[in-house]
Amino acid sequence: MSRFLTERFTELEPYVPGEQPQNRQYIKLNTNESPFPVSDKARAEATRALDRLELYPDPDCKTLTRSLAGFLADKYSMDLTAENVILTNGSDEVLNFAFMAFCDGNTPAVFPDITYGFYPVFADMNGVPYREIPLDPEFRINPEEYAKAGGTLFIANPNAHTGIALSREEIEGIIRSNPDNLVVVDEAYVDFGGESCIPLIDKYDNILVIQTFSKSRSMAGARLGFGAASRELIVDLNTIRNSTNPYNINALTMAAGVGVLEDEEYTRENCRKIIENRKYTEEELRRLGFEFTDSTANFIFMKHPEYDGGRLYEDLKREGILVRHFTKERIAQYNRVTIGSRRQMEVFIDTLEKLLEEAGCKGEKERTNENS
Ligand code: PMP
Repeated sequence: MSRFLTERFTELEPYVPGEQPQNRQYIKLNTNESPFPVSDKARAEATRALDRLELYPDPDCKTLTRSLAGFLADKYSMDLTAENVILTNGSDEVLNFAFMAFCDGNTPAVFPDITYGFYPVFADMNGVPYREIPLDPEFRINPEEYAKAGGTLFIANPNAHTGIALSREEIEGIIRSNPDNLVVVDEAYVDFGGESCIPLIDKYDNILVIQTFSKSRSMAGARLGFGAASRELIVDLNTIRNSTNPYNINALTMAAGVGVLEDEEYTRENCRKIIENRKYTEEELRRLGFEFTDSTANFIFMKHPEYDGGRLYEDLKREGILVRHFTKERIAQYNRVTIGSRRQMEVFIDTLEKLLEEAGCKGEKERTNENS
């Protein structure tokens, strides 16, 4: 730390992203990326944009904003215009804008105790107090505990790191029970089986829905996310955006975004494969005696009753497989495993089987045989 850092940041604990090793080829199941390449149309548009790289990108991101609004209006059969959306540098950026715009000393942030680890960092960064509501013992959100929250709510749906989703009806209940609070619904993982709340932005002025192109659209490296909400909320978010970084979307990403939206069939097919691979992985994990939450995301949150979570993370890494382990006490026995290609998941399961055997742990199948 230099002697010039201002006092308000001396205690700031930054967010720690998942590992992105550059030295060794891992089977990377640690940061919920897509195992599939970006769509050909996105690639073609981005390549064309290379010819105009000497110019600044459009600060209003007009073409992409219009095509995204049209895409969402079609997808959810609703009235939605360019004024209802804001594009950002990953969904992390719109989340940060929301903390800046809609939280302060008098309006704390409110979120579950187990959720996306960036929320408390955004709060600290912006000098915003926050309250954490514990998930129930099965790691579920109880919507009743979110009524009259007394601040701006941040709900990842499906939740990180559990993958458990609330229904649109349950989120609507939370919105109704918070008429004077904004409810931010972070739908980073919604495309893998969740129910989007975008149709609710027509009905309520206190909901902001956030999505990303990082997961289902294979564009984590391009950094593209968006918020959808009432025109008024989008005006506020644009005030923050134009006061921090008006050129927040670079020209290549903007072009790739237009391309990928024209290739929805490809995105849908990839999501279908992830859901299928998730099902395969769950069945195999059950056979090996693992316990896991009911995920509608592109990851599984799992633990084994006879295998320490931190040790499993280390042992898998030694075997060339990266998963995500969190040290927070309540979830220290768990690992979060991204769903990759079928081949990656087969290697993952074979490796687990080998590790369990070496550690002398018994799978469910063997236990059942012993009992019969
Ligand atoms: N929300 C949640 C719940 C996430 O897990 C992530 C990914 N780490 C993000 C938002 C941010 O994703 P991105 O900035 O890549 O859009």
